[in-house]
This record gives sequence, C-alpha cells and structure tokens, in this order.
Amino acid sequence: MPNIAIIGSGPAGCFLAEILALKLSDVQIDIYERLSHPFGLAVSGVAPDHLHTRKVTEQFERTLARDNVKLIVNTEVGSTISYSELKQHYDRVVFATGASEDRRLGIPGEHLTGVYGSGCFTRWYNSHPEHKDVQPLIGQRVGIIGNGNVALDIARVLAKTAQEHQASALSEPVRTHLAKSNISEIHIFGRRGPADASFSLPELTELGTLAQAEVQVSSDALIGIEAQNLPPSQKKMLQQLQQYAETPADASAAIQIQFHFYATPVAAIGTTQLEALEIRDSRLDNLDSSSLESLPLDSLQLDTLITAIGYYTPAIAGVPYDAERGRFAHNQGKIEPGVYCLGWCQRGPQGVIPTNRSEAMNLARQLIRELESQDVD
Ligand SMILES: Cc1cc2nc3c(=O)[nH]c(=O)nc-3n(C[C@H](O)[C@H](O)[C@H](O)COP(=O)(O)OP(=O)(O)OC[C@H]3O[C@@H](n4cnc5c(N)ncnc54)[C@H](O)[C@@H]3O)c2cc1C
Repeated sequence: MPNIAIIGSGPAGCFLAEILALKLSDVQIDIYERLSHPFGLAVSGVAPDHLHTRKVTEQFERTLARDNVKLIVNTEVGSTISYSELKQHYDRVVFATGASEDRRLGIPGEHLTGVYGSGCFTRWYNSHPEHKDVQPLIGQRVGIIGNGNVALDIARVLAKTAQEHQASALSEPVRTHLAKSNISEIHIFGRRGPADASFSLPELTELGTLAQAEVQVSSDALIGIEAQNLPPSQKKMLQQLQQYAETPADASAAIQIQFHFYATPVAAIGTTQLEALEIRDSRLDNLDSSSLESLPLDSLQLDTLITAIGYYTPAIAGVPYDAERGRFAHNQGKIEPGVYCLGWCQRGPQGVIPTNRSEAMNLARQLIRELESQDVD
C-alpha cells in the first residue's frame, strides 16, 4: 500500500489528508505534528472569541478518525525524525508546517520589555503550550503595528470587557491577566494608507460594536483616495473607516482605538522597558528619500507594542529553503521529486483557512495522478 507523510496538522495538512483519504482508500496517510495537539493556527491563531471559525476543527477531527489516516503527535520533523528518514519511509512527503516565526521590524528597541511579536502574543492568549507562560506586560497604552486582520483581532481581544469575553475560549490565567489590564488607548499603525489596508469588513465593523471602546480615524488620512478604481471589498472597508472618521468623538469611552495610517515606525524608545514609539509620516519619504534621518518624527507614549507584520517558516535541516522569502524553496509547490509543500510554508503567511483547502485540492489531484501512474517526477 503506498504511503504519504504530511508534516503539520494545521488547516493545510488536514484539508490535504481529508481529500486524499476520501479519494484514495488504499493509501496510508501519516500526519506528523510537533505539538501534543493538532490543528495549528486553527486553534492557536484564530481569535478565542471567534469560535465559529474554529468549528472547522470538527471537520478535521472526522478526517483524523478515518482508518487510513494516523496522527503522530509530539514528533518534530527535523529533530525527532529527519527529512532523509522520512524520504526513505514514504512514497510522498508533503510539508504543511505553516509560518510560525514572527518577522522583525528591524528598528532599534525591539528587544525592550513590552514589545511582542503578534505570533507570540496570539499564541499566549490561545494557550499554545510554548507560549502560555509569556505573561505579557499589558500597560495602559498599547500600540499594534500592522494593517491586517491579526492587528484587529488583537485590538478586539484586548478591548473586550470580561462580560464580552464570557463565551471566549480563554484559559483562566489569560482571562485573569486580560481582566486585570487597564488599557485606555490602543493605537493601530499602518505604514501605508487606508486603501492598502487588508482588513476584512466584518472584523473592522466588529471593532465599532465593542462595549467600552471607541474607534477613531483621522479624516485627513482618507482625503484624496480614488475609491472608484478599488475592488468592492476595499471600497466597503474604506466606507467603514469613513464612518468611524465621521462619528463624533465619545470621550466617555474607556478605551480609545485610534488608527494611524502612513505611519512608519522608526524606533521603540526605553531603557529596559518600552516607553514610546517614534514614527515618521511615510508620505514624506517620497519627497526626499536621501535624507530620511532629517525628516520630523512623532513620538507616542506606549507601554506595550505588538508587531503584526508577518511571519516566516523556520528551515528544516536538508529541506531546500528560500531564505529571502522565509519559506521552503519550491516550484509550484514541488520541493524535489516526491516532496511537496502546501499552505503557509509554501506561499507565505497569506490567506485564510479556506484558501488552504483549494490549494490542497490541487495538490491532491497531482498526488493521485502520480500514485496512479507510479510517476515520481
Ligand atoms: C493570529 C492569526 C489569526 C488568524 N485568524 C484567522 C481567522 O480568523 N480565519 C481564517 O480563516 N484564517 C485565520 N488565520 C489564517 C489561518 O490560520 C491560516 O490560513 C492557516 O492556519 C494556515 O495553515 P497551515 O496549515 O499552512 O499552517 P498552520 O496552521 O501554522 O499549521 C502548521 C502545523 O505544522 C506544525 N509543525 C510546524 N513545524 C513542524 C515540524 N517540523 N514537524 C511537525 N509539525 C510541525 C505546527 O505545530 C502546526 O500544527 C489566522 C492566522 C493568524 C496568524
């Protein structure tokens, strides 16, 4: 009976196993997972208050229960078992190891206490076994760098009241830690303008429904955007930002969530602990890029800074790696004969859970073709 090893039990690995197990009853599929539990970011990334999104794991559970699918936990490829061992034992090997490492901003002060990568921070509130003890310093003024849904998730999780978090999947220590925080300001920084933000409308809208938070957008940032050429989803996102900009300020809200567009972070300031973030108006960069140092800086007092600017895939000994892109080196998903990659370790940290399903479908078709024709290359 042919066998296939899938490395990683996140959405990409589980979708692939599901399709292969359905289409090929005479193939053994072994899924290797470095942690003691499966499902990757579907449980350690997806926000703890978005339980509807986590429901996909019920479908994955059914896949893992199939006779020809075996989950092998606590087994890290690259340490517990080597790449060459895998290649010897399996007809096909598929890496679906995600992109777990936080990209760094590369500015001074990133090492300060109070500065966290979003991967670390979201794994903490999702009780990932390697990050559950992080105990982040959450001060009164929080900054989040990034203009994607992860930044909005973090802002929402921090801004919700204990009451709003009642149904959230939070461990007791995380619940207590969040309830003890005394946040009054959350600042969300984006290097580019609102039209380039990759917020989804539901996440952006949800921010405005929170019990104790008020969302502020400076109308200046929205001037001059030619919305007619943008895709409908971007137009709707801009309309929501416009609505926030037009809503009169409510000083009584306990937490002010402020969007800062065209804000390039220049340095995190502090001696051992974060005290402020220096930012530059990125619209000025284009005017005279030869003398960036001489451009004026704004400084904003912050106690906590979370960088949500992307992730990279850690290399695995022997597996061809593209260091520039921070993912495995491949040609349309093929790493070498009989070896493939899928999901975030293939295309980088972009796309939602369903994106991995359509990619898994394409790879499954290819693997089925190959196994049926005994074609390796
Ligand atoms: C903070 C955050 C929030 C998100 N929220 C949403 C959301 O609300 N909705 C949505 O649709 N999408 C969301 N996404 C995106 C979604 O999580 C990804 O599209 C998806 O998880 C990528 O799947 P993957 O299988 O490629 O990687 P992962 O989910 O990261 O899975 C990789 C798996 O491989 C394992 N692994 C890694 N290295 C090894 C190794 N060497 N040996 C064995 N096992 C290994 C890991 O432990 C992990 O289980 C979010 C992402 C993040 C970061």
